[in-house]
Amino acid sequence: MSDPVVLRGGTVLTMDDSHTVLADADVLVEGDRITAVGPRLAAPEGALEIDASGGIVMPGMIDTHRHMWQTAMRGYGADWTLTQYFVWYYLEHGRKFRPQDVYAGNLIAAWESLEAGVTTTVDWSHGLQTVDHAEAAVDALSAVPGRFVLAYGNIQAGPWEWTADPAVRSFFARHSATDLLGLQLAFDVTGDPAFPEKAAFEAARELGLPVTTHAGVWGATNDDGIRLMHEHGFMTPETTYVHAATLTTDSYQRIAATGGSISVATESEQSAGQGYPPTWQVRRHGIPVSLSQDTSVWWSGDIFSAMRATLSADRAREHLDAHAKGNTVTHHPLRAEQVVEWATRGGAGTLRRDDLGSLAPGQKADVVLIKNDSSPVSFPLLNPYGHVAFQAQRGDVHTVLVNGRVVKRDSRLVGVDLDALRRTAADTVDYLRSELGEQAWASGMFPDLAATERLENPYQYTDYRAPGGSAQ
Ligand SMILES: [Zn+2]
Repeated sequence: MSDPVVLRGGTVLTMDDSHTVLADADVLVEGDRITAVGPRLAAPEGALEIDASGGIVMPGMIDTHRHMWQTAMRGYGADWTLTQYFVWYYLEHGRKFRPQDVYAGNLIAAWESLEAGVTTTVDWSHGLQTVDHAEAAVDALSAVPGRFVLAYGNIQAGPWEWTADPAVRSFFARHSATDLLGLQLAFDVTGDPAFPEKAAFEAARELGLPVTTHAGVWGATNDDGIRLMHEHGFMTPETTYVHAATLTTDSYQRIAATGGSISVATESEQSAGQGYPPTWQVRRHGIPVSLSQDTSVWWSGDIFSAMRATLSADRAREHLDAHAKGNTVTHHPLRAEQVVEWATRGGAGTLRRDDLGSLAPGQKADVVLIKNDSSPVSFPLLNPYGHVAFQAQRGDVHTVLVNGRVVKRDSRLVGVDLDALRRTAADTVDYLRSELGEQAWASGMFPDLAATERLENPYQYTDYRAPGGSAQ
């Protein structure tokens, strides 16, 4: 049991039902729970006092879709499209990952989450080719003091195959969901009219596990998959639809009517090509939204980026649609406050965890303090939601608590062995690089550039003659 902790004098974004914001307020944590929120709280003797003045105290953030196993290849695919990603991970090199490589990626990604104030992360773990890979994934998640959900998947086999594998069933006999490590099944629905995924949904039902699925991904999954799920009764409130970027109104209505939620990974959708980041459509249907960062092989595990990108993409779409009709957007339909909610309560809703995502007595003590006294960006603090969404970044995360335990303090992770992490990542990189060979390694990282056409320009600057002057 951790010592009590009190964060003093911050701007507190409670994210409670009425989104109460308190100035110069305290948050008291005892054991694994928040026990009080308010001004000048009395704290038990021996409580750790943390000065939150000038900072923002908010609930721990939640990422509902990240392929953590890919993190040992951090940044390698920065210039990929979805096709290059599929070839690399699904068809070619992803098969080479050993259990220790999954472990390495998960371990780094898990610490990366805590570093960024992401206290709960769904590990969308679709590289589990064997149960040994799955055990390695769990070992890594269990070695880091964050809250995680292992979404078990295997892109190298059909979901109807691997969910029926006795070894996989024995994995779920050995592991059941806990407060700090939840479980889901992760697989996609191709839209094949024979609906082979039916057996996998039945396995999920039998195991009592929610399903998370990449839905509405251009060229990969579409309305047929949603319709098949709906017709067979597998669209449930605990189902997560990741991306959901290229779906019709009919599919959004089926999702809305069955209570599931959409995990929007805006940086991913913008860059990889799953479809336009869908919040501008999704919010018109009242479908619950959470945010995600997908994979650090392209982007970061920093959910501040997700909030920023999501606001920008949603607003860009509203402007473009208005301009196409000759109109102007005079008032934004999406506020910074909404993306902060999606990053906190939204994630809690997706995971059916009412005890996460807000700061109130009785809630689990997952708490983040954003404060950086040595940065000119930390003041003035006028609009705290705007500050979180557009001004802050993970380096400004000063303190993080998970389940009442301080895991980041004074801007540094507590108890992390970065040298060991570095060695673990280097081992995986050395192994994959030698397996691939230098040429495949380099061409995988730097795909051929697409040809771009330079447009003809009738104006030549050498012809320009300023009024009353000579040629410029
Ligand atoms: Zn994904």
